[in-house]
Amino acid sequence: MSLAGALQAGPTSTRRGPRCSVHTLLRSLPNVESRALATMLDDNGWLGSDIAKVIRSEVGVTISGTTIQRHRRGDCSCEPV
Ligand SMILES: [Zn+2]
Repeated sequence: MSLAGALQAGPTSTRRGPRCSVHTLLRSLPNVESRALATMLDDNGWLGSDIAKVIRSEVGVTISGTTIQRHRRGDCSCEPV
């Protein structure tokens, strides 16, 4: 395939594979908790590592700050929001 052909076909790196663990967590938490987490994710005052820590202590799920940040940047396997 030529570059021109590739261009016409469009980007190939559409999101695929399982959603990242942040997404899975958001889906598995009760509504109130899920909304609280979503709010934290939107609030830049919360560092990824802080959110990871609070998730570990309050939910008992181990998740890394890097995973949180990747999700925030939209760099994870989730579909763009
Ligand atoms: Zn994600």
